[in-house]
Parts: sequence; structure tokens; C-alpha cells
Amino acid sequence: MKKKIALVTGITGQDGAYLANLLLNKGYKVYGTYRRSSSLNLWRLEELGILDSIELVSLELLEKSNIERVLRLVKPNEVYNLAAQSFVSMSFENPIYTVKVDAIGVLKILESIRMIDKKIKFYQASSSEMFGEAGLKKLNEKSNFHPRSPYAISKVFSHYMTINYRESYDIFACSGILFNHESPLRGTEFVTRKITSTLAEIQAGRQKILELGNYYAKRDWGYAGDFVEGIWKMMQNDKPKDYVLATGEEHSVKEFASLAAKIMGFNLVWKGSKPNEYAINKDTKKIIIKTNNLYYRPSDVSFLKGEAKEAKKDLGWKPKIKFIDLVRIMVESDKKRSLNGRILR
Ligand code: NDP
Ligand code: GDP
Repeated sequence: MKKKIALVTGITGQDGAYLANLLLNKGYKVYGTYRRSSSLNLWRLEELGILDSIELVSLELLEKSNIERVLRLVKPNEVYNLAAQSFVSMSFENPIYTVKVDAIGVLKILESIRMIDKKIKFYQASSSEMFGEAGLKKLNEKSNFHPRSPYAISKVFSHYMTINYRESYDIFACSGILFNHESPLRGTEFVTRKITSTLAEIQAGRQKILELGNYYAKRDWGYAGDFVEGIWKMMQNDKPKDYVLATGEEHSVKEFASLAAKIMGFNLVWKGSKPNEYAINKDTKKIIIKTNNLYYRPSDVSFLKGEAKEAKKDLGWKPKIKFIDLVRIMVESDKKRSLNGRILR
């Protein structure tokens, strides 16, 4: 049988690497897009040992001609659009750029698929950030959106564009509304990996303090390896449909940091009061974690928790890795990297 061909945009990112691994294991021919720049960001594909099994093609989402060139060259059966300016904080600093990539860039792909081959299946990486400040309830496919950052607003645009191309042109186009998912391959700008990589560097004596923003924000953190399985399942569905992927459990940044520090072997005690609590390393009597206003956002999302009942019912998907194991996997990986003198970013 002819191999299925998948095109993964953003293959150099966390989800791109795990999804490529999964698709290779399922027998796909995998093409992945990277951005031409002075330094190539291939460490995740190297770490998974799959760099040589993938065909890399250059693609900048801002350039429609790039997208058309790649679609004509690769002739994919399935396109997984994971490429994005994915960091919420950065979207406040570069709102126009973020909209161009995360909103208009997606429209460019959809429009190219419509022009070139409407049989190409399309996956869009939507985000729980689209829900914004929604209170303490569990969020699902029917919950309202109230996006709170240029990133989230761009994702709402591309979410509805994906639905519109499905309804208008009968394209198999679907979105996964994914709650935060982490791993040792997460970028160090995101809070979980910032915590595990910095604590590892503190333990190795190369850094002194972990400075964070809003400790009290709560997220529904899952494991990226589990989530890419849900992404693939959505694309094998009988009909295109959008799904929430989440664990259904929430934890605060402070809880993540405390647990990570404990697993790393630090003996912590929290002092002070909200919002300026700080953690002391009982063994050295020095401050090891504190807040810094630099890491607060103009508007944040204080609580996100999802409900993935539909994905379980229709796709048989549920997350396997529990919160405590996720933290342990990330801590152990950064500890090992740090001992080898190399924190990967
Ligand atoms: P990463 O930030 O790790 O990866 C983003 C990828 O997009 C990188 O390969 C990056 O390339 C590429 N990229 C960025 N800008 C452009 C551009 N202008 N043109 C082409 N490629 C570009 O993100 P994740 O893997 O964590 O996330 C994957 C997708 O899922 C993203 O769309 C994200 O917004 C979304 N998402 C992620 C969640 C999470 O918790 N991880 C939650 C919900 C949604 P380079 O390596 O060159 O920077
Ligand atoms: P996001 O949910 O996509 O924005 O993922 P992040 O990992 O970037 O942030 C998750 C939450 O952690 C947000 O509410 C942030 O405000 C909060 N947070 C607290 N301190 C930090 C920090 O130092 N860096 C980041 N990235 N987030 C932080």
C-alpha cells in the first residue's frame, strides 16, 4: 500500500517533534517545515532520534508563495498546522507579527488548500487560551471564548476560519482545542520548563534564583506525547469535528514549582504573603524562588481547566501521564542535561 504523506508545519517545535515521531511509527512519509535562519532549531528532532527520517522543507508562514510551493512539492494527504508564534507574553510585545503568523498565516494555508487540492485534510492547533477568563468551571467544545491576548485572539480567528472552510468548501478541516501540554521538549520560555531548567541550573551551581510572574495562575497541564495522539485521532475521524484535549485537573504555578523543587532534591519553605511570597532553600538559608514584575502580563488568564469527554467518547482518547509523573519526567530530564553541562532550549 502507498504510504500516507503528512506535512507538519512547525516540526522544530515541541508538538511537531512528538507528532512526527508518532506519524513515522504509523508508517507515514513525514515532511516537516522549518524556517530558514542563521541557526537551525533541530535539537528536539535530534533528541528523539528522528532527524534523518524526516524530509525537511523550508516554509515561512508569512509567505503565501512558500505555502503553495510546499503543498505542490509534497502533495500531502494530511497537513498538521502546528507552526505559530506560540508564546502569549511575546504576543503582547509583537501583536501585529503574532496576528500575521497565527491568524493570517492559517488563512493562507486554508486558501492554498482550497486552490490546490481540496482533498487535503487540515488540522489547526487551536488553544485553551481562546477561552480566556472563564471562571472556575470545566471548559468544553460548547464553552464561550473570551480571548485575553493577541495570541488568543489570533487563535480564535484561525479556529473560526478552519470551521468556515469546512462548512463552505467541504474540506476535511478540524481544530484541536488543546489545554497546556508540556514535556522535556517544551521551550524554556514556558513556565513549566522554565522552572525545571532553572532549578537544574541552580543545582549545578550555574544560577542562583528562579524568578517567576504570577504564581497563582492555574493550568490544566498534560503531557505533549499524549496530546499528539489525540491530534492524529482527530484527523482519522469519519467526519471533521473539533475537540477539546485536556486532563481535567488544575494546578497552580506555585504547586508545579514546589513539586519540581522537591523532586530535584531541594528542601523548601515558603515565606511572605500573597502576591510576594518567596521560597527559601532550608539547607543554604538563601532565597531560591521569588516573583519579578517583569514576568507579569498586561492581562493574564488565571484559571484553565478542560473537559475532554467528547474526545473520549468519539476518539477513545484519554491522557495517560499524570501531573506528578509529568513533573518528574521534566525534572529528571533537565537534571541529566544540566549534569552534562547542556540545557537544551
Ligand atoms: P512551539 O513554540 O514549540 O513550536 C512552534 C513552531 O512554529 C516552531 O517549529 C517554530 O519554528 C514554528 N514557527 C513559528 N513562527 C513561524 C513562522 N512565521 N513560519 C513558520 N513556522 C513558524 O509550539 P508547540 O509545539 O508547543 O505548539 C504547537 C502548536 O500548538 C502551536 O500552534 C501552539 O500555539 C499550539 N498550542 C500549544 C499548546 C501547548 O501547550 N504546547 C496549547 C495549545 C495550543 P522555529 O523552531 O523556527 O521557531
Ligand atoms: P500559557 O498558558 O500558554 O500562557 O503558558 P505559560 O507557560 O507561558 O504560562 C502559564 C501561566 O504561568 C500564565 O498564567 C503565566 O502568567 C504564569 N507564569 C507565572 N510566572 C511565569 C513565568 O515566569 N513565565 C511564564 N511563561 N509564565 C509564567
